Parts: sequence; structure tokens; C-alpha cells
Amino acid sequence: MKRRLQRIAKFENLSKAYLSSYRHGTAAFVRMLPTDRCNLHCTYCWQRDNNATDMSINSFCAYLDKAKELKVGLMTFLGGEPMIWQSLNEALALCTERNVMTDLTTNGTLLTESSIESLGKCGLDYLNISVDGVQSTKVTSKNSIFQPGLMEALKEARKKYHMHTRINSVIYKNNFEEILKLIEFSKRWDIQISLGFIVPPLHPENRTNDDIYFSTGDVPILNDIVSGILEKKKSGYPILDPDSYFENIFRFIRREKFWNCNYPTRYGWINVAPSGYIRSCTKKMDELDLHFLDLDPKKISKLRFALKEKVQTCNIDCYSNCAYDSFFYTHHKGEGIKKIINRLKLHKQ
Ligand code: SF4
Ligand code: SF4
Repeated sequence: MKRRLQRIAKFENLSKAYLSSYRHGTAAFVRMLPTDRCNLHCTYCWQRDNNATDMSINSFCAYLDKAKELKVGLMTFLGGEPMIWQSLNEALALCTERNVMTDLTTNGTLLTESSIESLGKCGLDYLNISVDGVQSTKVTSKNSIFQPGLMEALKEARKKYHMHTRINSVIYKNNFEEILKLIEFSKRWDIQISLGFIVPPLHPENRTNDDIYFSTGDVPILNDIVSGILEKKKSGYPILDPDSYFENIFRFIRREKFWNCNYPTRYGWINVAPSGYIRSCTKKMDELDLHFLDLDPKKISKLRFALKEKVQTCNIDCYSNCAYDSFFYTHHKGEGIKKIINRLKLHKQ
């Protein structure tokens, strides 16, 4: 009962945050990056820095106060690998106390029955586990979800704490067989799955030599991948991304400009780096000359203006599924509402 009341309070706070961002230019969504360190070494990743310093819990408390002042409704924890941050549970519990909804994206390597129980107790609302296949390969070892007993523990956390899990997977050139297995797995366990095509790093020096990126010569492979996914979607598999995300991959590899990143809009996330400075995008390891604690609606509006310019240069080279999906749902409100209704149905379970 307590958990149900907490969730109602969080939804109420999220609705207010959404309205306030519309009326007063406040920030509804914040991404907290408490660490840039990670315990894995995916070859396609340039979003980790194992020499970086983590956020302290005292700093986090100050950021949470600021987030409340800015009317934040949803706080996402990302990294690096956020589960290696030792203050994660404390931070999640503090968010729950202040009615801020939380979402955590992890590679899942530190998930155990006991850590899942702790996340549930702290009131985590959404757990996104990044998994690219059943097997560990030379590209990535993101296959944590297959640990014995893990799915049972996640199911229990859904029942007991209303903590909802989804799988996030990266499709690269030669892992589609593995992705198909994951899609079957998601159906079997009734767990949503989000599929994103690999995005080559913005800076060519960060590219791996592995042959994993798609290019114009890969249209036949992509035809099979796209038709395979759309078929599964049509027959009711719980794939979250809109059809157009998959259909438009051909436009992306031809470098057409056909979507607009939401970062410069009120739907865009404000990213807080471990130092507390604003990171323009989680796909960039940059820090702007602006600290989260200094933000107010006026500065948020200036920040959005600055991001507008930045996005001009990266949008054409980016096909992040979470950024595309955000663009899609803000331009197809009916589909967005259907998605929210599906989420609310999940909450009743
Ligand atoms: S698990 Fe995530 S952060 Fe860590 S190396 Fe892989 S992609 Fe990068
Ligand atoms: S288009 Fe948006 S999500 Fe993609 S790199 Fe640029 S700012 Fe980031």
C-alpha cells in the first residue's frame, strides 16, 4: 500500500513537472551521471572514463535540492556504469522521499537477488538492463540477464515493489542472431525490449576497428533485420521503438536529415556530469561552462539555445533510438498517449 501511494505521488509530481516545463520553462527530466567509470569494455563504447572521479553523496543531495527547485519529475541514473557508484541506493531512496520518479540504466553485471531487492526497497521505478546477446563476444559482454535466478528476482520485484524492467539492446552488424534470441526471451518473460542500431562515435578516433558499423553497402543485411523486427512487432512481441525507427535506418546510412533531436526543446534531458557541470549530451563526454547548481529557468532557456546550435552539427551523424523515439512521440502525440497507457497498464500489474 505504501509503495502504491508513493507511486501515485511520483506520478502527480511528474505531471506537475511536465506542466511547469511548458508554462515556466523548468526542467522536467534530468539525467544524473554519478560516475563515468565502467566495469565492462564494450569495443563500441566511448562513454566511459575509468580515471574519472565519482560524484559524492553530499553533492548529489545538493543536486536533488536543486532538481526539486527546478520542478524535476523524472531522474534517470546513467554512467559509465551507475551500479558501481557506492551511493546509488541512498540516492534512489532520497528521490523516493522527495517524490521524484527514478529510472536506472545498467549493464546488469552487478544485479543479484539481493541488489535487486535493495533497488526495489529504495523505490526504483524503472530498471533498464543493457543486453546485446546471450553470448559474451569480443565486442561486448553485455549478457547479464541470463544469470540463473535473475529473471525470477526481477519478476518478484515487479510484484512486490512495482519496479519495472526493460531490456535495451544494440544492434550491430553481426549480432542479429543474438538479438532475435533476446526478442524471444523478452516475449517469454513478458518484458519490454528497446532496440537501437549502433551509432558510430562522433569523433572518428573513437571508432573501433571491428567491422560492426552499418554503411550503404549493408542494405541487404539491413533489409533482413528490419523486416525481421517489423514482423515480430506485428505479431505482438514487446518491442518498444516505433516502426519508423527501423524503417528509417536506410535514410540514416544515406546521411539524410529526417529527424530533429529533442535536446534543445523542453522534452530534452539536462545531463549532470559527475563534477556537477552540464554535459550537452550523454553521447558526448563534454562539460559545458555551466554548473547544475547555477541553473534557473532563464539559464535553462539559454542552455537550450546553445544546444540548438550544437545539435546542428551532430544530428546527421546520430541515430540514437532513445533520442529518435523522443522526437517521434513528441510529433505523434496519439502514439505517445498509447505508449503512456501501456505503461500505466503495466503499473496495475
Ligand atoms: S557497459 Fe555501457 S558504459 Fe560500459 S563499456 Fe559497455 S556500453 Fe560503455
Ligand atoms: S543528435 Fe542529440 S542525441 Fe544525438 S549526439 Fe546530438 S545531441 Fe546527442
